[in-house]
Amino acid sequence: MRRDPGGQSTDRASAGSSAAAGRPGRAASGPVHCWPALQEKPKLASTFNCPLCNASNSVRCQMDWETERGTVKCDKCQQFFTSNINHLSEAVDVYQDWLDMLDEANER
Ligand SMILES: [Zn+2]
Repeated sequence: MRRDPGGQSTDRASAGSSAAAGRPGRAASGPVHCWPALQEKPKLASTFNCPLCNASNSVRCQMDWETERGTVKCDKCQQFFTSNINHLSEAVDVYQDWLDMLDEANER
């Protein structure tokens, strides 16, 4: 029972694939993996609480991927901290580095 429909579907599939191959062929010529829009990352709007003046969401983080430096700065007390970043780093990592640094400073 399956032989006849199977044979038909194979014919249809081959005809369909050859017809479909025409269109994607053009699209595939365009470099899909190279997308300039993706490289311009929008600055993450990440805010944190300031560990120094305890203001809520006053700390903003700027990630500079060209120089690979992340900066967190408090809008209230103007304290800031800069840390080295890589493409895996996130704003919270820089913020965490700041907290760690402050912890160490407090212990001494
Ligand atoms: Zn502050």
